[in-house]
Amino acid sequence: MRIYHDEDADLSLLADRQIAVIGYGNQGRAQALNLRDSGLHVLIGNRDDDYARRAREDQFQVLPIETAASEADLLMLLIPDEVAPGIFAREIAPHLDTGNALIFATGYSIAFGFITPPPSVDVILVAPRMIGAGVRDLYEAGRGFPSFIGVAQDHSGKALEIALALAKGIGSTRTGVVEVTFAQEAELDLFTEQCFGPAFGHVLTTAVNLLLEEGYPPEAVLLELYMSGEFAYTLGKIAELGLVGQSVLHSRTSQYGSMSRGVRFTIPELRLKMVEGLQEIRSGQFAQEWASEEAAGAPTLEALRQAAQSLPLVQLEQELRRSLRDMPTAAQVQQLDRAFEPEERQLPTQGSQSANRRGLLGRGLDWIGRSLGKPETEANAQPAAATPSQPQMEETLRHFLSQAEHDPALQAFAQDRELTTHYVLRDSQLEFTMRFHDGEVVAHMGPPASPAEVRLETDTAVLDGMFTGRINAMRAFMSGKLSFSGEAGLAITIQQVQDDLCRLYTHARSTVR
Ligand code: NDP
Repeated sequence: MRIYHDEDADLSLLADRQIAVIGYGNQGRAQALNLRDSGLHVLIGNRDDDYARRAREDQFQVLPIETAASEADLLMLLIPDEVAPGIFAREIAPHLDTGNALIFATGYSIAFGFITPPPSVDVILVAPRMIGAGVRDLYEAGRGFPSFIGVAQDHSGKALEIALALAKGIGSTRTGVVEVTFAQEAELDLFTEQCFGPAFGHVLTTAVNLLLEEGYPPEAVLLELYMSGEFAYTLGKIAELGLVGQSVLHSRTSQYGSMSRGVRFTIPELRLKMVEGLQEIRSGQFAQEWASEEAAGAPTLEALRQAAQSLPLVQLEQELRRSLRDMPTAAQVQQLDRAFEPEERQLPTQGSQSANRRGLLGRGLDWIGRSLGKPETEANAQPAAATPSQPQMEETLRHFLSQAEHDPALQAFAQDRELTTHYVLRDSQLEFTMRFHDGEVVAHMGPPASPAEVRLETDTAVLDGMFTGRINAMRAFMSGKLSFSGEAGLAITIQQVQDDLCRLYTHARSTVR
């Protein structure tokens, strides 16, 4: 694969052309400033608000998006992907002239068919592999950053040269740019967000959970695993020297231990999960699901955000961060700190520091308690009840399922729906199935006749906690106490009837006791 550099790009190609940067956010501001500093003609298209004010303060001409679209030859769409199709249709498409170029910083809208430009324009990708702050900081420091470039439509016959010139203008060809298709860029980006990142996150939370359960001090656990910044520094070295090359920076004990034990973590299921995720991305299933979620006001995203914020790990991190002095931010570790001012640190006095430490330890112990299924000690926690024995659970589930079949709220949920959920309780070896189909609920003990759209696997105590409202299902899922396979979007929709499932289960439970 060819990697293009400064000498492959010609800025003079853009000398007489007007560039409009639509959006003045993370990428918009950084790219607009870099392009102008590279000697190109740049104006900004934005609504008249804080972003527009910032652009004016930076001495740019700021126009309404429609006017910017009429005046410019090259339009760079640097606005969030979820609003781009609407803005394109209403404010840009009617003002495009033959020979204009549309430039995207991600392949998403084109690859998944949310934007279809007319054939009379070039459609170009210039996608930095760098956050906006880094794009600007590195440019000012005389350094570069990699980007993906691509061409989806080449009306002018010069689309690739224009992509290269823009990449040079923002400073990217100093390092090197790689040509990909719009689909490849979008799919790789989503794969990193949906497979690589979350898989890595679960490795981290599994390790934190385990070490806390084993009684290691919470401060030491978080510092050891990632909060010292050592791990972020090592990632930087992996980028610089390679995964194997950086190993020389570690002791021989470390090298022997990690290589000899590393093979244990070659888990085939990890690959299968990644394949599943990649298929959802490539088929456009994720993009459609996200478009519907957005259109509905993103209620699931909000629920997931709240559940994530309520994870005990978030509080542990905050308390530890407050107790540490002069801790390097990730940005400082990578020497990109200008855009990221560290949080104002409240340096504790000695007395408050020890209070802080007790608080942290207390929360760590709460977390261990929760992990082990002990009652939560926080003020708002629901009182715990004894986990049902296997026979009690089986009887409770039988009652619960027979009531579920006739419940009007569940029947309403089943309208225009085809969804089978298969619950597996690992410890008690009980399984049950609920099928929501065309206004009917069919529920029974045992597995479904054919594979369910959603399979949820957990332990008796966790299911009992979830169905009695003591355990937040999203949080159980995020902390690995509840795992699922199948369609993520469908699994999350079950949350809509969580209150009804709780009502029916709690009633069934009270009749068995
Ligand atoms: P931002 O969220 O920072 O964009 C904010 C800009 O979009 C503001 O100018 C804002 O103006 C405008 N905007 C937001 N909503 C609307 C709306 N409804 N109507 C009109 N304008 C709107 O985006 P990013 O810079 O993060 O992302 C821009 C593009 O770059 C995306 O395609 C993204 O995928 C891509 N990208 C982003 C990277 C990053 O690091 N963030 C990295 C690589 C690519 P206002 O609200 O004032 O109208």
